[in-house]
Amino acid sequence: MTSETDLYRACTLCPRECDADRTRERGFCGSPDRPRVARAAVHLWEEPCIAGTDGKGTGAVFFSGCTLRCAFCQNASISHEGFGAEIGVGRLAEIFGELEGKGVHSLDLVTGTQFVPSILEALGIYRPRVPVVWNSGGYEKAETVRLLEGAVQVYLPDLKHYSPRLSSLICGAGDYFRRASEALKEMRRQTGENEYGEDGILRRGMIVRHLVLPGCTSDTREILRFIASELPGVPVSLMRQYTPQPFCPIRGLDRRVTEAEYRRVLDWAGELGLGGFSQEAESADGAFTPLFDLTGVLRDAPKQPGPLA
Ligand code: SF4
Repeated sequence: MTSETDLYRACTLCPRECDADRTRERGFCGSPDRPRVARAAVHLWEEPCIAGTDGKGTGAVFFSGCTLRCAFCQNASISHEGFGAEIGVGRLAEIFGELEGKGVHSLDLVTGTQFVPSILEALGIYRPRVPVVWNSGGYEKAETVRLLEGAVQVYLPDLKHYSPRLSSLICGAGDYFRRASEALKEMRRQTGENEYGEDGILRRGMIVRHLVLPGCTSDTREILRFIASELPGVPVSLMRQYTPQPFCPIRGLDRRVTEAEYRRVLDWAGELGLGGFSQEAESADGAFTPLFDLTGVLRDAPKQPGPLA
């Protein structure tokens, strides 16, 4: 039987397949063999069927490190620079309990792929009564997603890019679509049709997110076509919050998405019969980016960042 330590010792958890021994070195994601968390707090800015509309929100745990590290990432301090505190599995389980104790509608695990073994162990210690949401960039291995079966009730993956050229340029992952599409099909296999509670909260199921990028709507159209044909019935959350970052070197990504671009994408989604969520123009505002300050991470200790990974 494979133990948690074994999975970190020659890490192939994500499609990067670094084979790194994370007990003493770092792979592409920059993550150690214990969970690193940057923030654990009530979060209101997810889809209404995840966070509700009554102010209770979702209990969001933001993990540090990332298997993608997109060139324009709004959360670069945690995804690129690894800001966060290293905690034990026991503390992670406590955090799940503390967040649920705040009356949230769901537990929202954000970018946890690099810590799957620890997260599963923590969910074995504390089993939430609210749905556990797997909120990821979509760059997963289907076999790693299979490990989550039974522990996760709701999948909230991104499906970012269709073209290998585009994904290679933005996140150095030419195999993004091939891997993500396999992983998303596995997620759907696990959850089946979406099931909602009387309060409108998604109890079991899946929503696919897609961030519309400036000048890349033809890529978006291929993504929408894939969802319509391979993931029928899955709602799509079309995000227009792309915000140019000064450190992003890619030409063309230095502006926001125009009204016309976003309208075009919504029209295509309608023509394909896709249901789901859209965003207002105001969502492209840095105010919606969470503050990464170790809120809720450490137990009875002053807030202080751990060493950068
Ligand atoms: S989780 Fe990290 S170390 Fe493991 S394969 Fe992926 S990028 Fe490499």
